[in-house]
Amino acid sequence: MTTTATTATRSSAQLIRAEAPVLAHNYHPLPVVVARAEGSWVEDVEGRRYLDMLAGYSALNFGHRHPALVDAAHRQLDLVTLTSRAFHSDRLAGFAERLAGLTGLDMVLPMNTGAEAVETAVKVARKWAYEVKGVAPDRATIVVADGNFHGRTTTIVSFSTDGTARSGFGPFTPGFRVVPYDDLAALEAAIDETTAAVLIEPIQGEAGVLIPGDGYLTGVRELTRRTGCLFIADEIQSGLGRTGRTLAVDHESVVPDVLLLGKALGGGIVPVSAVVARREVLGVLRPGEHGSTFGGNPLAAAVGSAVLDLLETGEYQRRAAGLGAVLDRGLAEIARAGGAVTAYRARGLWAGVDVDPALGTGRQISERLLAEGVLVKDTHGSTIRLAPPLTITEEELDAALAALRKVLA
Ligand SMILES: *Cc1c(COP(=O)(O)O)cnc(C)c1O
Repeated sequence: MTTTATTATRSSAQLIRAEAPVLAHNYHPLPVVVARAEGSWVEDVEGRRYLDMLAGYSALNFGHRHPALVDAAHRQLDLVTLTSRAFHSDRLAGFAERLAGLTGLDMVLPMNTGAEAVETAVKVARKWAYEVKGVAPDRATIVVADGNFHGRTTTIVSFSTDGTARSGFGPFTPGFRVVPYDDLAALEAAIDETTAAVLIEPIQGEAGVLIPGDGYLTGVRELTRRTGCLFIADEIQSGLGRTGRTLAVDHESVVPDVLLLGKALGGGIVPVSAVVARREVLGVLRPGEHGSTFGGNPLAAAVGSAVLDLLETGEYQRRAAGLGAVLDRGLAEIARAGGAVTAYRARGLWAGVDVDPALGTGRQISERLLAEGVLVKDTHGSTIRLAPPLTITEEELDAALAALRKVLA
């Protein structure tokens, strides 16, 4: 009954119109309606194909529907998907052991979304401050950086410096101090005996892929160690191969006290996040003090373990480093040619490209790239963020660079 099938199927334009009255307007998506995807490619309702240069903000580091990850999910769906932490599951121990091993830390607390991992770290750092460091009750502070993005919960937007993210959502959670990013002197000045932790992104993704100067992460590590507070690295976007190393902190061989992972940890299939930390830190939690119904569920642990299988080969880190050099060269050429690019920053397969606001907003550039069959996302008005799957081929990357050259010339 092909007629039934066609009348039941709505076009991209119809589906976009249907969303407006029923879906909260907390996003402003590009006008593309994805119906299927594989590897670096997505396909819309009408069968048009697009190269995905956003990769779900790095949740799709291994591309869409990586066969090993989809297999792991399928196999687990036939066994058990959810136990809650009221019981043990046969998947969780192995996942936690291997995640700790990969990161050089001791203990894991599995959650679901990135924001939950950040919230967990805030709670754990405060508890550590009271029980281990001896900060006076309810006086603990956490130092964060200007331009940060750590998620969308009430506590997290309390220390955001983005007006749009905060405005209208007060009253806010106290106990945070904001210092300029990539400024060790300002950081040192903000730390005192109440400081539980310094929470930073090793590279600020949402801010436009801002890469701190060489030595900053080493400086944060030394400073936090010397002043007796925790270094919490939010690697929810920068981690798991994106920058050409397993973690962005690996570029300076720095090990934080607390590492936050999410996005790619769920293989683009299920939300999986984790707080990974030294035993002295996560060890402060006792039964009942924190948790999540879905955190560390068997499906999440199975997919997360399959993600670790991929990372343990080192193949994706190498690809990100090698193809990152291709991306860097391509962007350098485009920037040299003049045109709309005023500056760009790149590390591994991750780049922020600033465009001259006189020649178009980031949104307009994204729409022009969409017309060329390339999906990207603007950030902060005039920056385009590029974060293709780490599985992208050199030919696909060249095609994306050609589209960028055409649109930005
Ligand atoms: C995406 C992101 C988060 C929040 O993750 P969600 O899963 O969207 O809650 C936190 N920190 C960083 C650095 C991120 O990029």
